[in-house]
Amino acid sequence: MGKVTGFLEYQRKKPTEESVKTRIKHYREFARSLDEADLADQGARCMDCGIPFCHSSFGCPVLNLIPEWNDFVYRKQWQEAFERLEATNNFPEITGRVCPAPCESACTLSINDSPVTIKQIELQIIERAFKEGWVIPYPPTVETGKSVAIIGSGPAGLAAAQQLRRKGHQVTIFEKSPKIGGLLRYGIPDFKLEKWVLDRRLDQLTAEGVNFNTDVEIGEDLSARYLQKSFDVIIITTGAGQPRNLEIPGRELDGIYFAMDFLTKNNLYMDGLIQSAEVISAKNKNVIVIGGGDTGSDCVGTANRHGAKSVTQFEILPQPREWKESWNPEWPYWPNILRTSSSHEEGCERDWSILTKSFLGENGQVRSAEFCRIDWKTDSDGRQTLNEIPNSEFKLDVDLVLLATGFVHVEHNKLLKDLDLKFDDRNNIRIDSNYMTSVDGVFAAGDAQTGASLIVRAIYHGRQAAKSVDAYLKR
Ligand SMILES: Cc1cc2nc3c(=O)[nH]c(=O)nc-3n(C[C@H](O)[C@H](O)[C@H](O)COP(=O)(O)OP(=O)(O)OC[C@H]3O[C@@H](n4cnc5c(N)ncnc54)[C@H](O)[C@@H]3O)c2cc1C
Ligand code: SF4
Repeated sequence: MGKVTGFLEYQRKKPTEESVKTRIKHYREFARSLDEADLADQGARCMDCGIPFCHSSFGCPVLNLIPEWNDFVYRKQWQEAFERLEATNNFPEITGRVCPAPCESACTLSINDSPVTIKQIELQIIERAFKEGWVIPYPPTVETGKSVAIIGSGPAGLAAAQQLRRKGHQVTIFEKSPKIGGLLRYGIPDFKLEKWVLDRRLDQLTAEGVNFNTDVEIGEDLSARYLQKSFDVIIITTGAGQPRNLEIPGRELDGIYFAMDFLTKNNLYMDGLIQSAEVISAKNKNVIVIGGGDTGSDCVGTANRHGAKSVTQFEILPQPREWKESWNPEWPYWPNILRTSSSHEEGCERDWSILTKSFLGENGQVRSAEFCRIDWKTDSDGRQTLNEIPNSEFKLDVDLVLLATGFVHVEHNKLLKDLDLKFDDRNNIRIDSNYMTSVDGVFAAGDAQTGASLIVRAIYHGRQAAKSVDAYLKR
């Protein structure tokens, strides 16, 4: 259980970061890891609670065995820590970098103290394992002769592929983009997740025998019917690709883009797959990011690295409460508090309860935007309603607008139409308790089924779907 008195003796210690001044000049990761002695102290803080909330449904969505590996790290038994970590999480080097860490909000120490630095411990266990050569391929010892087609290569598809291949099934991933990884490769910027991290893991999947087919859009380049005839099972892990639009006057002007177009082009450029002229550049521009979430925050960090003249981020929802304490006011739940990301620290004006009314342009190019302030009220049915505050209108000069207003649901593309799949009430793919869609032998997992969520949830659902598919193939 770590050290019995560890939580009384040691304070929480977080990794330090490179200064804003130097890090905005590059796209590399900028967090510096804790050293081995600090990590042992942090592991020692774990209380091995009777009910480990960090590892329950309040905490880690992949049910990582956190108290067990905390104890091993405290005892410097790194290989044992790694073995417990890889038992539940296919890609801890990714979650250890970019997971929002609901485990830490749920840590029992968060009731009135600061949580164990779980995410940093997770990252350092897996980085050590790669360094020591403990991360090896596990190709199956027996081939089942069954075949699985996975459509979409984000974390859900990759986790499902790895689990099923290890069971001895032939697994082929189809991806419409030029490279494998989904949003890990084309959504998340390099300064949060450098792509060699992903490539290193893909080497393991390749060595295990997973087949990858890129630049193939199922529904367009290959039909769903062909896949149904050629494979025993199909798993759809195509993500929640349909972005939410802002249908207001002036939306058609040049200079207004979905956040994903901006981020994807930047990632393609960083990967050498497109020329600089094709990048949506924020250089010397007044940039407005509409949407206060994580995608918006990634746009802020990228725009600052381009050399934007100014970056402003507006959110329609009210400002969450400020919370400076190290403990969680809503323990064990994920608290609704104001969060300042590393990208925000790099320079950005933020404001909340702002409604975007219209975009105005000259010669087809956006030049300014009109906004007003709003008041959120709760109606008699408990619903939040939005009311414009009279005379609160204001206008800003703007050269580039990035719409980071979220994703409505899975893209209802030709693939889903051809399969004639049923949707749930949020228009995502409907599944039963075994991850099977309304069509026999066709399964779905990840954001395509849950709606836009988190990497760790996509991994979990990919693993769970794989378990159901394995049972289906053995029936
Ligand atoms: C900008 C951004 C930043 C984010 N940052 C974080 C973060 O820091 N931490 C976090 O936990 N979560 C983050 N998320 C959320 C996270 O990335 C997603 O929840 C996760 O990637 C979903 O995984 P998935 O496998 O379901 O789908 P995706 O990662 O969306 O992958 C789906 C894949 O399917 C492919 N595809 C779609 N249709 C077809 C077809 N017909 N044929 C072939 N291929 C197809 C797509 O090209 C894509 O590659 C972020 C999301 C965005 C947009
Ligand atoms: S995957 Fe996320 S929630 Fe789970 S232990 Fe890692 S940081 Fe915590």
